[in-house]
Amino acid sequence: MPKRSLDKKSIWDVPSILSAFDSSGIKERHAVALWSFLLRHPDASPSDIPDFPKAALTVLGESFHRSTSFITSRKDSSRGDTTKLLLSLHDGMQVEAVIMKYEKERSLHPSEDEDDDIMSATTSQRTTRDGGSEVKHLPSRKSHKRSTLCVSSQVGCQMECTFCSTGTMGLKGDLSCGEIIEQLLHARSITDIRNVVFMGMGEPLNNYEAVRYAVRMMTDPRFFGLGKQQVTISTVGVIPRIRSLTNDLPGVGLALSLHAPTQELREQIVPSAKAYKLTKLMDAVLDFERRSGQRVFVEYVMLADVNDGEEVAHQLGTLLKEHNVLLNLIPWNPVYSPSSPHFSAPTRESVLRFQGIMRSNYAIMTTIRQEKGQDISGACGQLVIQQMAPSGVMMPHASSGDSRGLKATSSDSDAVESGSYAVDTPKTLDDIEDLGYRS
Ligand code: SF4
Repeated sequence: MPKRSLDKKSIWDVPSILSAFDSSGIKERHAVALWSFLLRHPDASPSDIPDFPKAALTVLGESFHRSTSFITSRKDSSRGDTTKLLLSLHDGMQVEAVIMKYEKERSLHPSEDEDDDIMSATTSQRTTRDGGSEVKHLPSRKSHKRSTLCVSSQVGCQMECTFCSTGTMGLKGDLSCGEIIEQLLHARSITDIRNVVFMGMGEPLNNYEAVRYAVRMMTDPRFFGLGKQQVTISTVGVIPRIRSLTNDLPGVGLALSLHAPTQELREQIVPSAKAYKLTKLMDAVLDFERRSGQRVFVEYVMLADVNDGEEVAHQLGTLLKEHNVLLNLIPWNPVYSPSSPHFSAPTRESVLRFQGIMRSNYAIMTTIRQEKGQDISGACGQLVIQQMAPSGVMMPHASSGDSRGLKATSSDSDAVESGSYAVDTPKTLDDIEDLGYRS
């Protein structure tokens, strides 16, 4: 992997700050005071922090930036439910972060909601943040408002999943903890964020230390204070790290990008499956379920005539029936990876039939992903890839926050309207509860 050269680091980069303070004899409590104060007072300066050592100010001035990234472009979907941010990093690389907004009135009868979720589309509107650093989000029983932030963990990705735009980029570099946290800060400047999912660019478990520090800061009540169940880490199946997650980040959710029920088929769709055998992967997932006591999300991108048939559905049901999982079917759409013309989107009938088999024959909770933000390139990696020069070199951008030219074309809008199968898109265990799935 090419090494990134960063002359200044983010003050949100926990290991770098702790290391720099330690080298200068500055106590860790001053780092805690720094992050806590700046989250409570976003417009303040470190020099405003009571009893903050001069030596710490010197270290910050010499080696750290308040922010090492900026919003190069922002796209809002025509339905207002998705905002996609293209962020430029300190070294000119770019990553994406996506805000998905949900607002829905629910009945007091979860079963009615579930039926409604399966067949209808939802809308949402943007809310503004209140500026607090420890805001509690208490969903009412009848009105659910939530914003989920999907963050990137790497620039590009080495896993090369065949249906994924990011997989075509290769791996350009790992994000630091600070660069991950800054995605949350940028998103919070737009709306209140209730959930964070590591489902953007990159394989989070291939950048384990940075992700681990970032999740700890996100869930620390002194800082962002998100509930552990409000953070979900997605992986295509890095077995050793799945096994260490329950120790390192207890309570945090796990999503497995499975996409196939057999080793042979999985290797065709997810090349990294060659290194991580399916039987061992499912053993690790079962271990996670038992040790954490949590339900695991299983993500399954449906590709027409590849993995959407009845026989495959029965193979998947057999594989998952002993697991405590929620299966999320994701009908593939050409916008996910324009450079993969060999795939086709599944028909609505095949998706519903697949879901019916999983539910009726195997009693597996199975949802169908709500299509959000297709008119703004809603799949991971697309916005970045659109900004790449033909040579594959990242192009620098100067128009921070510029939203000109971001309206969807009429054909894009058509894609949004025609792409809606369902609305239940659980992203975290919190969402499962909202959907009435948790007892
Ligand atoms: S789906 Fe995820 S793991 Fe696979 S190539 Fe894309 S970003 Fe990487």
